[in-house]
Amino acid sequence: ERLRNQRDQLEAEVKIRTAELTVARDAALTSSRHKSEFLANMTHELRTPIQSIIGYVDLVKEEAENEGQFDMVTDLDKVTRNADRLLGMINCLLDLSKIEAGRMELNLSSTYLKDLLQDLSEATAPLFPRNNNKFLLDNHSDNPILRIDSEKLLQVLINLVSNACKFTERGTVTLRVENTHSEINFSVIDTGIGIPADQLAKIFDQFQQVDSGETRRFGGTGLGLAISKQFCELMGAKIKVESIEGEGSCFTVKLPMS
Ligand code: ADP
Repeated sequence: ERLRNQRDQLEAEVKIRTAELTVARDAALTSSRHKSEFLANMTHELRTPIQSIIGYVDLVKEEAENEGQFDMVTDLDKVTRNADRLLGMINCLLDLSKIEAGRMELNLSSTYLKDLLQDLSEATAPLFPRNNNKFLLDNHSDNPILRIDSEKLLQVLINLVSNACKFTERGTVTLRVENTHSEINFSVIDTGIGIPADQLAKIFDQFQQVDSGETRRFGGTGLGLAISKQFCELMGAKIKVESIEGEGSCFTVKLPMS
């Protein structure tokens, strides 16, 4: 009799706890959905005024150029650069909130590999003369047509090349492209500072930066790799990293050929 009572009591308690957990889970889901929606709306609202600032600065810069006020042009260039950086960060947050809310979609089209590589080299060209790094293209593949979301793949590759460049003081950044016919592998290889072994698993998490203390030498948000990883997952691709501290890193995107 006593044991039966105890069992009934325990069963009643389990029911109460399960109900409490269900309520807590539902509340958490609702609040996380609200958070994602809030972030998506907020970042969208932030983008518009910054785009307008960039547009107006361009206009004023043109006038200053026409009037030969070159000091002013130099100052306005700084405004544009910083506004662009801000816009870049806001776009990162918008991408992440879209992914979290399950609202990021693929925009598939047919793209020649060579056109993609051309776009990549044009987008990353400004990075190279500036900090003494050389950019090499090691392409052993033919020119297949890829059925991809070229904007997202390009964004991932630009992220990887920009990082490689940022963390390499004076050396080389190589893009190696291999076509195994079941997949295309894009490897971005640098001869930079490398990543400590115990940090390798963390760098794809949001806001994670190696040496993220106050002494951090490099700028950035810690969002680029998190977004790159999410984009790769969306595209059915894999992203992996190999690195030796002090020697360099190799990030590879493995894109299946459908
Ligand atoms: P961010 O570059 O804006 O800080 P990322 O998400 O792109 O953010 O990268 C996260 C961190 O991973 C960087 O802060 C850096 O510590 C490390 N990292 C990424 N790429 C490299 C690289 N090529 N070489 C060395 N460290 C890197």
